[in-house]
Amino acid sequence: MSAEETIRLDRKHLWHPFTPNSVWMDESFHPISVVAGEGTWLVDAEGKRYLDGNSSIWTNLHGHRHPRLDDAIRSQLGKIAHSSFLGLTHEPAARLAEELIAYAQSGKKSDLNRVFFSDDGSTAMEAGLKMIVQSFAQTGQPQRTQFISPQGAYHGDTVGAMSLGPSDHFHRHHLPLLFPSRRVMTPFCYRCHFNSAKPEKADARSYRQCNFECATQAEEEITKTGKNLAAWVLEPRVQGAAGMVMHPQGYAQRTCMAARKVGAKVLLDEVLTAFSRTGPAMSFHAEGVAPDVVAVAKGLSGGYLPLAATLVTEEIFRAFDGPPENAFFHGHSYTANALGCAVARASLGLLQDPAEQTRRVTLTQNLRELSRDFWKHPNVGDVRQEGALLAVEIVAHRATRRPFPAAERRGAHICQTAREFGLLTRPIGDVLILMPPYSTTANELQQMVEALRKALAKELPA
Ligand code: PMP
Repeated sequence: MSAEETIRLDRKHLWHPFTPNSVWMDESFHPISVVAGEGTWLVDAEGKRYLDGNSSIWTNLHGHRHPRLDDAIRSQLGKIAHSSFLGLTHEPAARLAEELIAYAQSGKKSDLNRVFFSDDGSTAMEAGLKMIVQSFAQTGQPQRTQFISPQGAYHGDTVGAMSLGPSDHFHRHHLPLLFPSRRVMTPFCYRCHFNSAKPEKADARSYRQCNFECATQAEEEITKTGKNLAAWVLEPRVQGAAGMVMHPQGYAQRTCMAARKVGAKVLLDEVLTAFSRTGPAMSFHAEGVAPDVVAVAKGLSGGYLPLAATLVTEEIFRAFDGPPENAFFHGHSYTANALGCAVARASLGLLQDPAEQTRRVTLTQNLRELSRDFWKHPNVGDVRQEGALLAVEIVAHRATRRPFPAAERRGAHICQTAREFGLLTRPIGDVLILMPPYSTTANELQQMVEALRKALAKELPA
């Protein structure tokens, strides 16, 4: 089928996520029709090749069509693709659960011991918040129903996940459906009004001048909520959809400790940050935090299949002991899909392969080196990096950090122009993102950075 025919059928029958009709249905807009992938590259119906600069919306870890991942799926397909997980079990799920728990612990102290499978980041978070509330209800603390998270938190689009991270922009028509939850200030050094430092050509976290008011405010709110608090909810180290907001070191540790002190649970959303995205195996390892519940998704299957997991302590699981009505009445038809589990096991194996670990360290270092060039452009206000995840924030005026009016959609225009230079990536507002698959070679990484720099220069001539 030609690309034109695909696009015609698409415009007639499909509905895309997070996509304004005015953009998609505009005949002058030409969507890319992807027909193949190979390593770091995506290929469209005309044979044009693009670097996958945001790892296919933060999911892909090892590149497309990785032989070990492809083989894992083929081999499982020779046995069975899927069977129900209600009252049945299977080896790929049991083995993956064991490996996932070992991976999440990675030698660090953690009580995580149980895995509940679902399909996406939102469903993993939804399961987590319901488990926490029910576990308290069944252990004599039914009043613990409050959740606190930082402003801008995003945990997905199901009603519970939206309630934990409501957004005026995304969710304004659904706000009446959401349960109330509390917000504290975002630990965002570049845009923090407590940070008295003058802008420098560096990650704002490295030159901040403040008294860590963000952590203190969160601690105070957590303490005040006390015995009504069910959980402190955090995307550790990096708040993705908030604009790749990277937290100052120590924030997660202080806030999670405060939650523990009042007897609340710590619910971490590692949907974006797990699997070495920010460096360590799990982001919480960087902060010495011992979570009660951790949601993972996106990279769990290496970016191949929709598979998610909620990792939970044995203590929470045991709160569901007792009569049958104490069960967790929650689940999905495709829970623990065997193909997904098989490919996730192969991905975890690759993540722990010493050669792959060395490759990731090199990728991270190269990205850090190359990212310095962004400072040559006068509209770059902040360049922040965690692991192989780079965010470049564009501003109208560097010295005052004044942003461009949102309606000008500068970030979107820059990323659209980057396609001309062979790069696919999506911004968040005026934050440009590079999140290369770990398979990206030094040369490909250089091409990615160059493409983004050229697009920036074309859209915002200095
Ligand atoms: N949590 C975080 C931190 C996310 O970044 C996302 C998605 N971008 C989600 C949850 C929701 O995941 P999904 O889109 O797979 O439902």
